[in-house]
Amino acid sequence: MARAQADDEELFTFQSANSNLVFKTISLALQSTPLHCDVSTGNYRPFVPKPFRTTIINMIHPLAHSGAKATTNGVKQRFILTSLRKDCTEFCKHCILPKSPKSVVTLNPQSMIFHYLPQDLVIFIWML
Ligand SMILES: [Zn+2]
Repeated sequence: MARAQADDEELFTFQSANSNLVFKTISLALQSTPLHCDVSTGNYRPFVPKPFRTTIINMIHPLAHSGAKATTNGVKQRFILTSLRKDCTEFCKHCILPKSPKSVVTLNPQSMIFHYLPQDLVIFIWML
């Protein structure tokens, strides 16, 4: 994800825009490319380039299998994405998981979802 950030024009637009976001870079072990994160909330929220947006939403949404608004808030607390609300709304609209609260997916470190994620993201999750 850090390497994708390096080529992402939206990140540079965010950084140069007059917004409340405060970007810093962090270096992760085994990664030569630093990860750009917003720190304006007191937490490190990585900027998510377009190719990783669905992966991130797909990672957050099953935690509670919540609706678009709650999924948007869950992602927003942890990451910076453009078109977040629209992407979460579309994702939730097309979610094929059953809506029963009994079907909530529980993540554990050994679950397969982590195997689909880029290495720097997995490291970041463990830092939270
Ligand atoms: Zn769902």
